[in-house]
Amino acid sequence: MDAARRHSLVVPSQLNTAVVASFTTSKPLAVLLYGIPGSGKGTLGRMLSQATAWPHISTGDLLRKHISEGTATGQASEGILSGAFAADTLVNSIVALRMREVDCRRGVILDGYPRTLEQTMVLLPILRRMNLEPVLVRLNLDYTEVRVRLQARCHCAVCGTIYNLIHLPPRLTGRCDDCDGRLIGREDDQADLLSKRIEHYLTRTAPVAQFLEASSVRVVELNATETPARLLTAILSRITTENRIEELL
Ligand code: AMP
Repeated sequence: MDAARRHSLVVPSQLNTAVVASFTTSKPLAVLLYGIPGSGKGTLGRMLSQATAWPHISTGDLLRKHISEGTATGQASEGILSGAFAADTLVNSIVALRMREVDCRRGVILDGYPRTLEQTMVLLPILRRMNLEPVLVRLNLDYTEVRVRLQARCHCAVCGTIYNLIHLPPRLTGRCDDCDGRLIGREDDQADLLSKRIEHYLTRTAPVAQFLEASSVRVVELNATETPARLLTAILSRITTENRIEELL
């Protein structure tokens, strides 16, 4: 779906088109999207990608694609469907391979990666070599909101476009606006798996953000309960400003 249509589908009055139009950065950035499952990383990542033309690299999407295609990587990561993390080495190699592609040179949006400190230690030297400045974008959401949100989450079984029946509904119930594909829920969004995913987030992923903050990586804090349009405007205006790169990598 083209950016203008998706934006107008969202909440036109809340998208600051001037901010989107004037978006520019002085350095290529690696936007690291952080937030508890259900905080809206995928939706924001896709919208941000449309606005910046930087690729949106979601490790969850890449892993699910491998699983649906039955590759060896997919077979090794089937545990993610029941809430387990994929192995660091496997995720690191998927991302490293993807980041070698030429479209990553001007900037990237990483969604769900790095999720562990081990992954962080592999990613940072890659960013340094590519001269991409990391910016941590944290989507803050109260845990009580998570269950409600995930029950409302669905995506197109054909093209993967994400919807939320509360914040980002399709025009026709159960059908994708883009390709008319069937909308389905995610296997790992089931209530019984959610606690496991939240626990992984708190024990394994939260330390990544703490580490990056302590290493002077720029942090953009966002309130995930805002609409996607407002979040997009906020993030673009915050990362448009002069970027700085530190000695940390
Ligand atoms: P997501 O689409 O980001 O919610 O990811 C879905 C699931 O894929 C997660 O709950 C994890 O089980 C797995 N996954 C995604 N990214 C990673 C990663 N960087 N490291 C390990 N497992 C991951």
